[in-house]
Amino acid sequence: MIYGSIEAGGTKFVCAIGNDELEILERVSFPTTTPDETMKAVVDFFNQHKEGLESIGVGSFGPIDLQRESPTYGYITSTPKIAWQNFDFVGTLKKHFAIPVAWTTDVNAACYGEYVSGHGKGLSSVVYYTVGTGIGGGALQNGTFVEGFSHPEMGHMLVRRYPEDSFSGNCPFHQDCLEGMAAGPAIEKRTGTKGQDLSEDNLAWEIEADYLAQCAYNTTLMLSPDIIIFGGGVMKQAQLKKKVQEKFSELINGYVVTPEITEYIVTPKLADNAGTIGCLALAKQVKVNS
Ligand code: ADP
Ligand code: ZN
Repeated sequence: MIYGSIEAGGTKFVCAIGNDELEILERVSFPTTTPDETMKAVVDFFNQHKEGLESIGVGSFGPIDLQRESPTYGYITSTPKIAWQNFDFVGTLKKHFAIPVAWTTDVNAACYGEYVSGHGKGLSSVVYYTVGTGIGGGALQNGTFVEGFSHPEMGHMLVRRYPEDSFSGNCPFHQDCLEGMAAGPAIEKRTGTKGQDLSEDNLAWEIEADYLAQCAYNTTLMLSPDIIIFGGGVMKQAQLKKKVQEKFSELINGYVVTPEITEYIVTPKLADNAGTIGCLALAKQVKVNS
């Protein structure tokens, strides 16, 4: 059997098909433009792989509506990307493909990927953050996503300012929340240089690690998960993980005893495939009437 995966990011879409072993058989990627244009590319891709296609798993940028009883279930809702506001994502897919669709956030999908075949395998409580153009977080408890009236928005938690940091923050809603202080664009605005072009010993990485350590601290005290995984473009800075681990240990100051730090705060085992593998896994186990 063949399963489909759609990682719908604010910058790019990645579509893939995979098998029962969650092996990726084929994958394409294209920029996120308008729903008309981008969804046409999605539909074209899956039309080429329609034979044996059992179901599709979608991990989407958000906010999204995932309340099954809601009239706008399956929609992207109040996103700052105007063309995508109130876009009926699942409905559009269903118009073209009469198969079940699993629907969740992009970070939940990546969290699920690590849970089924990455660093979260065999654990019961897994938290995943992506640190990229924005910061998003997803949490799993015994295989179920943590959610209430909606999905969590952990990337917008409040953080204490790093003493020497004079950057005012760039979240359009909260200014100096975690995303406003520590996502890729915040690093670029603070330093005038993209993260990938900064030297490894730039003070920016101390500041970044401080904010991410606060994020891990809050997460630990709120959820006491088995593992916290930090992924996304910014985490490609190899020196960052160790700094976050060290600063986290200082912050927590022995108050709670977490799993061994090098196994507790980690980067994704599946690297850039976490989202795709998560979507495939969600597609594989989606209920027939979804
Ligand atoms: P997206 O969030 O759009 O899916 P990414 O996770 O790649 O994409 O995040 C993009 C952000 O990450 C940009 O702000 C970019 O400057 C930053 N970034 C990408 N690669 C690196 C790197 N190697 N080091 C530091 N920052 C990076
Ligand atoms: Zn915010």
